[in-house]
Amino acid sequence: MASISETVKSFVHRSEFWLTAPDRRYRFWETDSPGRAYFFSAADLVQFTETNCLAKANPNSSDISKFKNEFQASWEANKTNPDKGMALAQSVANYLVWIDRLFFFGIITQQDKRKDESDHRSLIQLAFEDKLVDPEGEIEGVFMCYTATLWVNIKESSGEYQSFEKLFCIIVHELCHVYLGILTKDNNASRYYKDVELDKGHGVQFQELLQFIFTQLFEWMPKVLLFGELAAEHQRALQTALAQPAVSETIARSRIYATSDANIALAHVSDTRSRMSGIFI
Ligand SMILES: [Zn+2]
Repeated sequence: MASISETVKSFVHRSEFWLTAPDRRYRFWETDSPGRAYFFSAADLVQFTETNCLAKANPNSSDISKFKNEFQASWEANKTNPDKGMALAQSVANYLVWIDRLFFFGIITQQDKRKDESDHRSLIQLAFEDKLVDPEGEIEGVFMCYTATLWVNIKESSGEYQSFEKLFCIIVHELCHVYLGILTKDNNASRYYKDVELDKGHGVQFQELLQFIFTQLFEWMPKVLLFGELAAEHQRALQTALAQPAVSETIARSRIYATSDANIALAHVSDTRSRMSGIFI
């Protein structure tokens, strides 16, 4: 059995491979690293993360107190004087880096390779839209694999800016898509479909991971009621996902490919519509 650091190293290797293979990203779940087999299914990945991420492995870490203090201060400040525009974008980008460190081993923002705090070398970039849409209507956020861009809707449908905590929660949700999309490898299309892709990418392991993170955040900051509401919502969604019947390999594969193709079309539309500049993370 591999040690914890060996397993994290294989995640890092996998994420580096992802970075160099833009044309394969929508089929990445079935691709092996060149010359090196990679075996982690979504269930393996989520189980490993829930046990070994910094938030769980080292609950007394000074990083956790620092995160809690900073977040609570931003949350309080936003209640009386809400951030807007680039100030809001920059603030939530800062907390994206924190979530990556506390729950995702710093893999998404490449923490192990940074020289200092001014060094930005994330796998992904964060970009904001006023009105993000897919063919079915307005959406809160979406992760575009080809361009490695996490798009977030900075305004509500009413035209008002999103609240700080709502925008933060949208980013946490999208980061779970990023993490599972990059690090899951599965030769079993049926299992991958149920764990990751079910219901527009909200499968069993997706719900499990998101529920785990919101439960932890609510435990740390019980005043932020939205964390508790989302933990409960994703717990219910997990039960619904678990109750879905399994589909055959052929059906699973064709549904995953159909979603990928729709995402490729959407990526093209969104990336030509950018209004606000991206943020370095
Ligand atoms: Zn989603």
